[in-house]
Amino acid sequence: MIRKTVKDITDMIEVLNDTVSIADILISGVSIDSRKIEKGQLFVPFKGEKVDGHKFVEGAIKNGAAAAFWQKDVPNPPEGLPLLIVDDCLVALQELARSYRKQLGVKVVGITGSNGKTTTKDMAASLLSLKYKVQKTEGNYNNHIGLPLTVLNLDEDTEVAVLEMGMSGRGEISFLTKLASPDAVIITNIGESHLLDLGSREGIAEAKLEILEGLKDGGLAVLNGDEPLLMERLSGLSESVSVHTFGRTESNDMYPVGIAQSGRGNEFGINLSEQRFFLPVLGTHNIMNALAAMLVARHFSVPFEEMAEGLKSVKLTQMRMELSEGRNGEKIINDAYNASPTSVSAAIELVSNLDGFENKILVLGDMLELGPLEDEYHLKIGENLESGKINLVFTYGKLGAKIAEGAKKTLGAERVYSFTDKEMLSEELKKHTNAQTLVLVKASRGMKLEEVVASLEKES
Ligand code: ATP
Ligand code: MG
Repeated sequence: MIRKTVKDITDMIEVLNDTVSIADILISGVSIDSRKIEKGQLFVPFKGEKVDGHKFVEGAIKNGAAAAFWQKDVPNPPEGLPLLIVDDCLVALQELARSYRKQLGVKVVGITGSNGKTTTKDMAASLLSLKYKVQKTEGNYNNHIGLPLTVLNLDEDTEVAVLEMGMSGRGEISFLTKLASPDAVIITNIGESHLLDLGSREGIAEAKLEILEGLKDGGLAVLNGDEPLLMERLSGLSESVSVHTFGRTESNDMYPVGIAQSGRGNEFGINLSEQRFFLPVLGTHNIMNALAAMLVARHFSVPFEEMAEGLKSVKLTQMRMELSEGRNGEKIINDAYNASPTSVSAAIELVSNLDGFENKILVLGDMLELGPLEDEYHLKIGENLESGKINLVFTYGKLGAKIAEGAKKTLGAERVYSFTDKEMLSEELKKHTNAQTLVLVKASRGMKLEEVVASLEKES
């Protein structure tokens, strides 16, 4: 984490008050949550719409914060406290991170895309850890606040930082990538998420490609080569950027060969090596995430044999294709972290192709933030099901009901259940599961479908 005196900080960002008397105070780390403050941290209050964080400045300092920012338009800064008065606390936090990043010798990997950012980040960090001291974005801290905090959390001796960059509109990735100044970037894919704000998949592709704006000269861009919207837009790229593509098709620089899927994960080879790899997570879309991570690891000179060891033990962030077992012995894939049409289709494809189960059940809820075409996207999920591959469908929520409507056409009404109450859904679901059952649970974050997983796992 950042370790600087107040004096150092005033050299890094614009501070408006006289801080001579507190110049020697040492700051170790930064926090925006006064309840979780650790000794020596700099507390950064935000003037939120509901609560003004400045109310907690005194408490934060009492709890051990070494100093705090104070935004100049907030009246009555408490006297006698070690405060750094700044024009705008959020901007000051971002500027501090930008300046700290410049001082660090760390190599940065920036990851964006519609789906798979966190997964790819975790995989890239696992592979790079085989050779370097690595730090990565914790959880999903991927926005205009989370990314600066992640940068400020980097240690001076960290060699590679793997940073997730998320967005909900134009310009956001541009801002994050310029702050982080990456040496390598990944765009995992282009999906339908955030159509609400960006209007079209073209708009999404352009917004993701903003990540190249901060890429260092001579840097590496790892792109999903199966996505025409990305490939079409490469002509304007600076010549100093090397582009490496990954994907399912043979036109890519790296593509998988000889995929063998099982209930434990994926085994696969790649076109560039004789090495076989085992990835203990489900779904061929996760092979794509692994390929992107492997291209970055190769750029940083990690040998393929070592990558094979690293992939075997990847640890992913929770609720992404997490495997568990229910009380009836059923196998559950908890993918309740998030959902979009692309990721739901990928997950259904996975379940459809897994052998060894007599009974496959989908539990699907609303995919949120899809804009005016949301009904169609949901209907299509149901209409595209293959009757021979999926036994039952349970849906939850209003949009989920559209999936059910589509599924009735493909599976027949008697194999489709639609609920607006999770408890009732779980009760009905339990009547249909046994040790030969595989259940996929997936919806947008706001639907909290992990409650259904918990209910299957719990003694009734
Ligand atoms: P967020 O925007 O919420 O941060 P993310 O991009 O970080 O999401 P992950 O958390 O890695 O994505 O994965 C979310 C879900 O997306 C997974 O549970 C999985 O179902 C799906 N997913 C992951 N990778 C891919 C991929 N390459 N293609 C399609 N779907 C994917
Ligand atoms: Mg994420």
